Amino acid sequence: MENNNMLLQDEFGRKHDYLRISITEHCNLRCTYCMPEDGISLTPKSHLMNADEIVSIAQTFVNLGVTKIRLTGGEPLVRKDAKDVILRLGKLGVNLTITTNGILVANFIETFKEAGIKTVNISIDSLVKDKFNKITRREYFDIVQKNIDLLLEEKFNVKLNVVLIKSFNNNEIIDFILLTKSKNIQVRFIEFMPFSGNQWDKSKLVSYAEIIETVQSEYKLSQIERLQDSPNDTAKNFKINSHLGSFAIISSVTNPFCSTCNRIRLTADGKLKNCLFSNSETSLLEVLRAGESILPLIEQNLLSKKAVRAGMDDDLKFQNPELFSQNRTMIAIGG
Ligand code: SAM
Ligand code: SF4
Repeated sequence: MENNNMLLQDEFGRKHDYLRISITEHCNLRCTYCMPEDGISLTPKSHLMNADEIVSIAQTFVNLGVTKIRLTGGEPLVRKDAKDVILRLGKLGVNLTITTNGILVANFIETFKEAGIKTVNISIDSLVKDKFNKITRREYFDIVQKNIDLLLEEKFNVKLNVVLIKSFNNNEIIDFILLTKSKNIQVRFIEFMPFSGNQWDKSKLVSYAEIIETVQSEYKLSQIERLQDSPNDTAKNFKINSHLGSFAIISSVTNPFCSTCNRIRLTADGKLKNCLFSNSETSLLEVLRAGESILPLIEQNLLSKKAVRAGMDDDLKFQNPELFSQNRTMIAIGG
């Protein structure tokens, strides 16, 4: 512990400089793959991080070498003091980003700008209104569409997160790619991942290989450009060469990218998760509230990080409901 710069390094030499903070478990949508049908039992407010605690923990991580922070949730923008949290984190001098369902974005344009947010990820799983409403179990399609255009007008980099589910939206892959023809957006196709209560099964998975096959059935090989991925990118990046925007595939299920993982996660109740798929968590909030240093806990947590997907290093383990149902629901992790 003498050298704090090493605290965010794990046993495998991976340096963790990207912190994802969930700032709420609440959400104004009920996406079927994220939120169990009967909801989740929400953590009492007193057990959740307040704005000062979020900023304090984030500052500790920045001091240790974190250079990028992503806000997520639940839906981060439903948090009552979201503007305050965003503005305060914007002062930490990191690359601040956000993943949102887009519904409340119009109220936050100035806040994003003031906080230095340049890129906004919006989750949208269908370009067909009825299907969007069905998967989100709410009716906000038009608002989300409008807000995507608003972000583009306001010159934000816009990334669209699309979770692909077989027989639901895999027939929209090309429609999403067509969006990139005249709009400078990045569409990110995400393999459907197993979490507690999300009715995952392998037959619903649209794999990296299937996505590529679909793209190649529409475009000639010479039209599909493989872009350079950045060093810790979870996405494999592509572009149709005549299009303005690009697309990417995030294949945590069929092609995990654990060897270059630089991410750590802080849940809304102040627990550190060293892997999206890990059910072992370390409560930083309790120790912070007791007035003690959180550094030893951060170090222990990072040192216990497994090489691959929280130890589920083969498909059998990863797809075993007895194992993945021990993890939180996605809405309580934050993606
Ligand atoms: N509410 C915000 C939103 O929807 O963008 C932020 C939180 S959400 C949990 C973060 C990301 O996780 C979203 O892009 C969502 O599509 C993705 N996600 C949720 N459940 C997933 C699952 N089972 N497999 C893959 N991605 C998932
Ligand atoms: Fe809410 Fe995002 Fe989960 Fe959908 S994916 S239920 S918008 S937290």
